Amino acid sequence: MNRAMDINQLVRQNVRELTPYQSARRIGGKGDVWLNANESAIALHFELTMQTLNRYPEPQPEQVIERYARYAGVRADQVIVSRGADEAIELLMRAFCEPGRDRIIYCPPTYGMYLVSAQTLGIGYKAIVQMNNWQLDLTAIEQNLTDTKLIYICSPNNPTGNVLNPDDIKTLLDMAWGSALVVVDEAYIEFAMEHSVVSWLANYPHLVILRTLSKAFSLAGLRCGFALANKPVIDVLQKVIAPYPLPTPVADIAAQALSKENLTKMTLQVVNLNKQKAHLITALKQFSLVDAIYPSYANYILVKFNDQGVFKYLWNQGIILRDQSKQPNLANCIRITIGSQAECDAVINALKTLNDQGN
Ligand code: PMP
Repeated sequence: MNRAMDINQLVRQNVRELTPYQSARRIGGKGDVWLNANESAIALHFELTMQTLNRYPEPQPEQVIERYARYAGVRADQVIVSRGADEAIELLMRAFCEPGRDRIIYCPPTYGMYLVSAQTLGIGYKAIVQMNNWQLDLTAIEQNLTDTKLIYICSPNNPTGNVLNPDDIKTLLDMAWGSALVVVDEAYIEFAMEHSVVSWLANYPHLVILRTLSKAFSLAGLRCGFALANKPVIDVLQKVIAPYPLPTPVADIAAQALSKENLTKMTLQVVNLNKQKAHLITALKQFSLVDAIYPSYANYILVKFNDQGVFKYLWNQGIILRDQSKQPNLANCIRITIGSQAECDAVINALKTLNDQGN
């Protein structure tokens, strides 16, 4: 085997240009305080009730689907369960977008995977940057609807934390009627449940809602998400999903997480998280280093600092947050996940030291 071979030459052009998802864990962050990925600080413990793994899992585990449908207030035929909401983001593109012809619209600053999935699949994309108040630029979206099959919006939006104006979402749905699906990513909706658009499924055949157990349900390690839509859309997604997307132990735990008792627990945890969030905001407001803290309807806050060095300073202290400064209009902005009291206090104390140095 002495002949050289450049595997890269065999790789699809669009994939050659990609870099793997850049999580802080991957790039070697070393810290005690991880508040970079909007995970929950609450570690739940479940016992597996299944005993054996010699058979394939149910393709769409009935109990999980039924329990999620009941929880979300939809019918079971309006639910598909996926390997995290991330998989659902991509399934939609695989099912609805013709590579090389169709495109998606996404609205930065926002979650990164809409773009990554489009790039991976060789599907076109158009960024329509949000307006100053982080609402949709409907005029620009309307001007760019040609060849658009999917419009991804996110409410509460990651990383800005705001919810989208419901009238704007309605206008968008009317605009896209007959030509594109509108995908509302509600990964964080449990922190602002009254803002869900799930009840609109009755009126809009082209509305898709994405959900997950990774955030309020404290199960990021489980990799379990959902798409909610009317049956014709769900039927199409069934065509492109992997044969057995959810491992048996995952379905087992997801069903337990969706029991009545657990749903009550989850709701109480959201109340506690919102208290923790208020505590963090009150503390950060005192620092002259802080330019703005944006209103948050999620389990994180976006903070604008008047110093470029804050992210690196905290990183070096072992406090790993999410730098957002490369997103449009987010210079000097850092996203902080609401962690445990101890984790939030670590952020507050480190920032206090830095703030006092500057004064
Ligand atoms: N949508 C948004 C807005 C997110 O922030 C995330 C997770 N960071 C996801 C989807 C993906 O969630 P999951 O863990 O279910 O793949």
